[in-house]
Amino acid sequence: MIPALMPTYNRADLAFERGEGARLWASDGRRYLDFGAGIATSSLGHGHPHLVQAIAEQAARVMHVSNLYRVPQAETLAARHVAASFADSVFFCNSGAEANEGMVKAVRKFHAENGHPERFRTICFEGAFHGRTLAMISATGNPKYLAGFGPPVEGFDHVPFGNMNAVRAAITKETAAIMIEPVQGEGGVRPADLQFLRDLRATCDEFGLLLALDEVQTGMGRSGRLWAHQWAGIEPDVMSSAKGIGGGFPLGAVFAKEHVAKHLKPGTHGTTYGGNPLACAAGNAVLDVVLAPGFLDGVDRVARHLWRGLLGLADRHPAVIAGVQGAGLLLGLKLHEQVSNGALQEAAVQEGLLTVAAGMNVLRLAPPLIITEADADEAVELLGRACRRFEAVKVAAK
Ligand SMILES: *Cc1c(COP(=O)(O)O)cnc(C)c1O
Repeated sequence: MIPALMPTYNRADLAFERGEGARLWASDGRRYLDFGAGIATSSLGHGHPHLVQAIAEQAARVMHVSNLYRVPQAETLAARHVAASFADSVFFCNSGAEANEGMVKAVRKFHAENGHPERFRTICFEGAFHGRTLAMISATGNPKYLAGFGPPVEGFDHVPFGNMNAVRAAITKETAAIMIEPVQGEGGVRPADLQFLRDLRATCDEFGLLLALDEVQTGMGRSGRLWAHQWAGIEPDVMSSAKGIGGGFPLGAVFAKEHVAKHLKPGTHGTTYGGNPLACAAGNAVLDVVLAPGFLDGVDRVARHLWRGLLGLADRHPAVIAGVQGAGLLLGLKLHEQVSNGALQEAAVQEGLLTVAAGMNVLRLAPPLIITEADADEAVELLGRACRRFEAVKVAAK
């Protein structure tokens, strides 16, 4: 019989009752070090007092009013994000897929309003992940996600990740934008070359295209800068965010320059929940922490420490780990074919460490941004024990 909870996920048989910082306690009494953070989402870890208090106080005062009225919490959050980013204006929604939908709509509207309704196509990349709505499974382009859901939404072209010649060859009179994750998350924690991002910016300028960045996973401090594209010294025209932006409370956002945002007039786009007082109270609390002096430098420092630890781990376990990749606190262990990421993930759970699998047989580490160097060392130690389980099996089999 079908479970009451629709079985769209292969869930691990773990249920958590409580969390504190980077630690989670399961109903079986075991304690876990959380280097998955609910898929790069619990940016402040679990039970962060400032975030908890902001949510509790706002929930008690007023949770939701709709966007038929002013929402001061949203006005404040937008103004703060504008001050801290390339953007001139921000639209709030509830998830990453929704943010990407809004971003692609903004791109199409921009060209339509500028007299080019024929420019509606977006160039995307192989290995991308942009979400699960009908349009975003088309933008993602993975045949597995498209199967059975009818004709793909028109207007998304795919080229190999990092291939500038392929990008230029794909540009036609109908091209509106180039859409990319600065680090492909689900696709295998693959960072784009910073020079590739700069070349994309230049190519967009050359052909009158908009550069649309999907920073749903890479943003909000995860890379060690507030936004990952800052490492490349470029600015997009439009950007999507979600995951870490609400610290675990559902919140998404479309960030845009004025030349894009000005065409999304009343009636062109909307949401009922999006940017409600509760979600924006959470967003403001997360921003308080992430923008506090020294916080992002601390993320960068602990990320470099973790990176060094993982390189050492890869050296000690060459039969399991083929390489380390990623940026900031979005890191991946690329595994050899004979060890599946699912199997190593399961072994890590046995050792008390939570991680997330990603594409191309990569084990993804996306811990809360508040981890310490001691937490990073502990994760490396637990991963080492998980690796040894495979080496032990191999020796035993000989
Ligand atoms: C997770 C993710 C999405 C989708 O976000 P949802 O909140 O699950 O809709 C889109 N883009 C990227 C890069 C993501 O990592």
